[in-house]
Amino acid sequence: MTEKMYYLYGPVSSRRLGRSLGVDIMPHKICTLDCIYCQLGRSTQKSIERREYVPVAAVLAAIKQKVKEGLDADFITIGGSGEPTLNSGLGRLIGGIKGLSNIPVALLTNGTLLFRKDVRDDCAKADVLLPSLDAGDEETFQRMNRPHQDISIEKLVAGLCAFRAGFAGKIWLEVFLVEGLNTDDEQIGRIARLIERIRPDKIHLNTAVRPTAEAHVARPGSNKLRHIAARLGPKCEVIADFSPKQHGARFVGGAADVLSMLKRRPCSLEQICSGLRIRQDEALQYINILRKRGAVESTKKDGKTFFKASSKRGRPGGGGR
Ligand code: SF4
Repeated sequence: MTEKMYYLYGPVSSRRLGRSLGVDIMPHKICTLDCIYCQLGRSTQKSIERREYVPVAAVLAAIKQKVKEGLDADFITIGGSGEPTLNSGLGRLIGGIKGLSNIPVALLTNGTLLFRKDVRDDCAKADVLLPSLDAGDEETFQRMNRPHQDISIEKLVAGLCAFRAGFAGKIWLEVFLVEGLNTDDEQIGRIARLIERIRPDKIHLNTAVRPTAEAHVARPGSNKLRHIAARLGPKCEVIADFSPKQHGARFVGGAADVLSMLKRRPCSLEQICSGLRIRQDEALQYINILRKRGAVESTKKDGKTFFKASSKRGRPGGGGR
């Protein structure tokens, strides 16, 4: 596998960012949280220690090559197999990307390390920050996100507020809803009060449409999602029902691109086709090749088949949020 394929995936069609080149800067699955709804399975290491888990110079070399090949994307999106702000080279990485391309940089993060000034300084180099807030109180935060012992909901919210105060770019906050855990009126009221403090530019409501770390994660119906969105105000939209943007030409390079996509999150056949803009027969052909190699396996969610990178594979996947 080449360096480029190791750290980058796509561009793929993303619900929130249009056509997006994914940049994975964390090993699977080191995170500050262990969310019950995580699409990557359980956290293998819950940590708040920052270090250069993936070498920034190698990631930048891969992006440089991609730009040289004529990269066409709406965003270069940093995220991956765990929490990307744990990578201490994040600021250098974003600065380096800015020197290579004019494509805006988006950062997917759970926001839990924003209480640290060095993390806020690194994140402030991005154009768009996409953090998460799934709970309105500590008890729900513990149940939903199962944080590292040194992280609390108040620390998360205080970090987001401090970041907002010094950040000129956009903040698009995701709220992931799990039926029976954070969807009742009282909980939504508490989340709304925290959102007032954080002052994001947009609020994105998401729910479990793909297989999750815990099997019992249930999603609210679309009416309830719309009701909650209305309650959270005009900046709020439901993103759980994905319909891909049309960008013209296909950009799949073969089975390797399908595997790259599945390493980040489980996808149905339709999602592979729309993400990589290929026909179903073509996608099935690649899936069969990958299954024979033992690189891909299937799983069911709500009676629907999803494909994911095999858990026995040697190299991590990515894209928790
Ligand atoms: S959803 Fe994101 S923040 Fe939560 S455990 Fe997965 S990678 Fe970490």
